[in-house]
Amino acid sequence: MTDIPSPAIPDPYLPGSGTVDFTVGHYDLTLEVKLAANRVAGRARLEGTVLRAVKRIELDLHALSVSKVVATGHRGSVKVAKTSVRRDRLVIDFGGTLDAGTALTLDITYSGVPRLRRSPWGEIGWEELTDGVLVAAQPHGAATWFPCVDHPSVKSTYHLTVRTDAGYLPVCNGLPTGHRRRSSGEEWTWELHDPAPSYLITVQIGRYQIEAIADQHERPASGADSERAPLFLAVSRGLRDRAHSVLAVQTAMMDCFSRHYGPYPFDRYTAVVTDDDLEIPLEAASLSIFGANHLHQSWDSERLVAHELAHQWFGNALTLRQWKDIWLHEGFACYSEWLWSEESDRSTQSTHAERAWRVLSQRPQDLVVADPGPEHMFDDRIYQRGALTLYALRCALGSEVFSGLLRCWVAEHRHGTVDTEMFLQAADVHAEAAGHAAGFATDVVSPWLFDTGMPALPEPAAR
Ligand SMILES: [Zn+2]
Repeated sequence: MTDIPSPAIPDPYLPGSGTVDFTVGHYDLTLEVKLAANRVAGRARLEGTVLRAVKRIELDLHALSVSKVVATGHRGSVKVAKTSVRRDRLVIDFGGTLDAGTALTLDITYSGVPRLRRSPWGEIGWEELTDGVLVAAQPHGAATWFPCVDHPSVKSTYHLTVRTDAGYLPVCNGLPTGHRRRSSGEEWTWELHDPAPSYLITVQIGRYQIEAIADQHERPASGADSERAPLFLAVSRGLRDRAHSVLAVQTAMMDCFSRHYGPYPFDRYTAVVTDDDLEIPLEAASLSIFGANHLHQSWDSERLVAHELAHQWFGNALTLRQWKDIWLHEGFACYSEWLWSEESDRSTQSTHAERAWRVLSQRPQDLVVADPGPEHMFDDRIYQRGALTLYALRCALGSEVFSGLLRCWVAEHRHGTVDTEMFLQAADVHAEAAGHAAGFATDVVSPWLFDTGMPALPEPAAR
């Protein structure tokens, strides 16, 4: 037996999620959503591979009931002896043993009223808005709306069909590939061609209209390695003008990030703006979600817009293997705010770095950036110090070598899984090629990533 995908490593930050027994290459989800009752009836087809000989497979599923599971292997139907839902897990017992490497499709019919999942980071998952639905699933909220292998290193493609009330638009990841008006309401189909983990899959339902926000025929003027994907906006009529004027800047941001990090990694980028205020904006594969309260002509709003867009490269295309490496998402997204600030002729990266360094120096220095512990995964200090780590590396390598490193990092691992060790190796290779001693980059960033005390603020890089 060859080419059995490697299993997701159980994550100590989320010990109850994912499985080492099964992986999913493709999900086909069909969801009927009754908004008034917040009720879903779904069918999920998981096309996957059995990773080791098993008699049962456990999937993640939170507070929804399952009425039917049909399993199909390469030799036809596979007997399902029993299914049960216990404590956020759907347990499927088979009549016999399935061998490692078996291609297995699980067709699961389920329904219920999705419930938010309580976590140390607040309530996550499927959430009712005043007039619609939002899904914010980081890190393990996907199970609130479909049965899945909820692990960041399990990346799959998706086909999503959502039927909902007339007058509402369900916005999902990727590209819309079909729209039908039915007697009972609207049906939209979306396809995500690039593989993404389940926590980055989303459905946003509201009285949205979707339209392009940039002239897609206009090519960016910034050179051969800049590549702009179509940008779309989903927003209700009342917020439309404000959203357009605040989010128009995304076009220039996309050019900037494409120049520094390589081409935008998905087919399109959609910004969804909810009528409700949101505590923070959220990233999903090929899409970001902002609240009405984020639509301001201010640096504070604009930096969030840059931050979410940058996650398409760092977090969504390059996704951590384990949650302890969250700085590979948040540090890079925060650094991208500084980069955008400098490129749009506001404050320089050094100004931002100095400010962040001063703020962090006044705060408790008890976090290890590369393994902060689950309770501190979304601590602002990880974001700021993660960005400072990259800034320190840029100061040590010079902006050109540093940019080359980031472009290679993205190109090599686009739509893959990454960890801190891999980043350090890549940084060392680039540093050595630029004439530095072996292990130079690791020596530069290690105090930032693995020690608790604040290293000295680096000298600004030669430009
Ligand atoms: Zn972020």
